Amino acid sequence: PTACCDEARRGRSADDFRVLTAVEMGMRNHEIVPAELVDRIAGLKHGGTYKVLKNLLKHKLVHHDSSKCKYTRSQRFQFRINFQYVEFTCFVAFLRADDGFRLTYLGYDFLAIKALVNRGVFAAVGRQIGVGKESDIFEVAAEDGTIMVMKLHRLGRVSFRAVKSKRDYLKHRSSYNWLYLSRLAALKEYAFMKALGEHGFPVPDAVDCNRHCVVMSLVQGYPLVQVKRLQNPDEVLETIVDLVVRLAEHGLIHCDFNEFNIMIDDNEQVTMIDFPQMVSVSHRNAKMYFDRDVECIFKFFSKRFNLSYQEAEDGYDETEADVEEIERPSFSSIAKTAGFLDKELSASGFTRKDQDDIEKFIEGGTEQKDTTSSDDELEDQEQTHIEATDDSVAENIDFLDLEDQEDAAASCNVSIQNEDKIM
Ligand code: ADP
Ligand code: MG
Repeated sequence: PTACCDEARRGRSADDFRVLTAVEMGMRNHEIVPAELVDRIAGLKHGGTYKVLKNLLKHKLVHHDSSKCKYTRSQRFQFRINFQYVEFTCFVAFLRADDGFRLTYLGYDFLAIKALVNRGVFAAVGRQIGVGKESDIFEVAAEDGTIMVMKLHRLGRVSFRAVKSKRDYLKHRSSYNWLYLSRLAALKEYAFMKALGEHGFPVPDAVDCNRHCVVMSLVQGYPLVQVKRLQNPDEVLETIVDLVVRLAEHGLIHCDFNEFNIMIDDNEQVTMIDFPQMVSVSHRNAKMYFDRDVECIFKFFSKRFNLSYQEAEDGYDETEADVEEIERPSFSSIAKTAGFLDKELSASGFTRKDQDDIEKFIEGGTEQKDTTSSDDELEDQEQTHIEATDDSVAENIDFLDLEDQEDAAASCNVSIQNEDKIM
């Protein structure tokens, strides 16, 4: 890991990083950043930017957009007649390939990973341990060998349809919407993980966050969905239900509380993960989300572990009376405190506005049907996401100069072994 760290710190080329950062900056107000602008921001001598761009393109860190576009510009002409300079300006129409670049997800990964390596958060990237709906999850190793987890958010990758339905909103941010949204999702996840951890909730330790990337501690366990047998299923269910209730008391609803986002270790201790979609108990659909979370858990436990539970109000089932019933919590009877964690959240830089912004997307509703924006724009975005999926860090990790990939992977090989282990 030390060698990897040094390498990544030095980098194959500081220029690569400089130009990539220039593209990122350009994307703040350009969907496609003209090469000249990249050059101006990067400020490399002797046309260095163009050479570097070619290299970045080869490694799929940027995408080159060469749609033809017509534009006019004023051009100065100057010539000499009999030792006299004559100068005039005229407008010329050009038809040319637009020399534009934009970051791919891989390029964004590079910037985030590089920043975190520079900060000393971790020194090597290991194998991929999860592919979520809208994220890729890797093991990473700190210089002292500690294994952690890096989650790279990929908003819009799968549920692009959800983003599509919000295109009215996207239109105003079309330039760097996926960068923006993925960054926001990461910041939200980090802020919630940190705040919840501080309030004693069983969540991974929030280590750091940069751009669309969150670093957290590794949970030594398995997602509940992989667990086929439990010593004390009713105790585990009770713990989990208690968690949902405690969250609500703290003013929050997980909204994706299910067997994929609950980890169980060998001692049957529970850890919850995956927070970008959490909402406040004051949300207009709060009760529905709460009931859905509860329902998910009860259904899963009843199916897999044969536990009975109270069906709504009166459903005490005599036939299963030998199993202790676990009471289903009711949203209305919980003493909830909305905004309880606001202070902690804003301490991580996550604001109310961020919450509003991200809710418009992640909530996955269909309220905002829009008919105004052009489909071209959307196809364009869709293209970005498709490309982004292909560009996985794992495939291109060598570009990060994490020299000895094998070593890095080996050093990261301590946890998540065989999925079947506790089945
Ligand atoms: P998504 O939002 O895409 O669903 P998750 O945060 O749920 O992503 O992570 C996906 C999978 O990655 C999880 O089901 C789990 O197996 C694994 N994972 C995520 N975070 C951790 C962690 N801190 N420790 C161990 N495994 C993790
Ligand atoms: Mg998940």
